[in-house]
Amino acid sequence: MKSTMEITLSFHKMLRPLLAPSFRHQKTISHTLGRRTSIKDAIESFDIPHTEIGSILVNKNAVDFSYLLCPGDSIQVSPLAVPVDPCRKSFLRPNHLPHLRFLVDVNVAKLRTHLRMIGMDTLYEPNLVDSELAGLAMQKQCIVLSRDRGLLRRKIIEHGHLIRSQNPTEQLAEVLHYYGLQNKINPFSRCIHCNDLLQSVAKEEIMNDLEPLTKKHYEEFSRCSACNKIYWSGSHRKGMEQTLKQALQMHLEWMGAYSSLKE
Ligand SMILES: [Zn+2]
Repeated sequence: MKSTMEITLSFHKMLRPLLAPSFRHQKTISHTLGRRTSIKDAIESFDIPHTEIGSILVNKNAVDFSYLLCPGDSIQVSPLAVPVDPCRKSFLRPNHLPHLRFLVDVNVAKLRTHLRMIGMDTLYEPNLVDSELAGLAMQKQCIVLSRDRGLLRRKIIEHGHLIRSQNPTEQLAEVLHYYGLQNKINPFSRCIHCNDLLQSVAKEEIMNDLEPLTKKHYEEFSRCSACNKIYWSGSHRKGMEQTLKQALQMHLEWMGAYSSLKE
């Protein structure tokens, strides 16, 4: 005879929007398991990737993702506290990162440009399959940003975030807010094409590479040391400045909303 076990789960209200609609308004969910399973698998069976979890209590005791569930367990699942600092060791993530570095999935491609624009070290490998991306994240010690819950469920991805919005400016605001980047940004210091750092370059040195109007109207230039792309303070930069301004504004609005949701 197949044995089953009953458990109850309660997800923090900030995690509930990620649940299937039928569970979203339930404070406590009764769940039947067909076999003994880890808490990670049980939580993820509700479509919440482990990367979103900040703490798990089982019968009021903190456990990690490897905990094997027992009949009657009562589980409380909470999100990470914002701002999240992946460079600090935590109970669920003892392998903290040595630096802030992002790996952007192809489903949020524009986010890589925005993050590089604010100076964040951001990898982007659109031709890799999920298993390769997860491997790269581990090897390069990156935070994976994606809208793909399946990718973020992968065990070897320890640090990641499920991007909620489909709008690139909002996505930037989300990341900025979630990781508290507002004091760490260094706009226009990195190449948006290849992620390398920019160096300032004298106009005379690049004169022959400039279009006539650029030559006429601009004096200050920087150049990517890897791909040689030249940057200056033109209309393109104004658009990016506007994006950053909007993202910072959203962050400030969410700061207010967050303190009332925190509980
Ligand atoms: Zn470059």
